[in-house]
Amino acid sequence: MSGADSSDEREVVGWRCSSCGQIITSIEDGWVEWLAWEDDQGKTILRGLRLIHRQVAGDAGGEHGCRYDPHEEFQNNVSIVEGLALERFVGPDGLMLLLSFVEAEEFPKEDVLELAKRVHVPRYELTRELFPEAISCNFCSPFLGAGYYLQSEMEEVLAWGRRQKKVARACPRGDDMNQRARRNAE
Ligand SMILES: [Zn+2]
Repeated sequence: MSGADSSDEREVVGWRCSSCGQIITSIEDGWVEWLAWEDDQGKTILRGLRLIHRQVAGDAGGEHGCRYDPHEEFQNNVSIVEGLALERFVGPDGLMLLLSFVEAEEFPKEDVLELAKRVHVPRYELTRELFPEAISCNFCSPFLGAGYYLQSEMEEVLAWGRRQKKVARACPRGDDMNQRARRNAE
């Protein structure tokens, strides 16, 4: 069991940077940031939650690298840039931190849920951008609904995506996955 787990973890390491679009190849290279301000009633509002490269002096150029420019954000939106290392969001403590974000309701809930899935669910990051097309092609019909995928579904869509890159981008004719889902439901 432990061998399978470690290979899964290796596969999941790597996230697309929301700023430069390149891959963040290690947990140590990741940074999670957001913008904070107060509304008229003094209530804290947090927006713009995103996973980016940690390094400030990077290929993205500019003194802030992939991060928000604190000066620009304050000038334009009167908001403060806040952030934490990606390592703070991994493991049981990271999951608890994300759950506390959900509870606090300062971020849009869907942003926190998406980050939780990206950091904690193996294969989610690799497949999340493939699913809308796979669903529209009727290649798969997620059992739990759009955005919430089982490991078996992600494995199928990952294989499908890899095949799609080799052949023309067209809907595959087989729908093995739907047949399997139906079998499982019976
Ligand atoms: Zn980046």
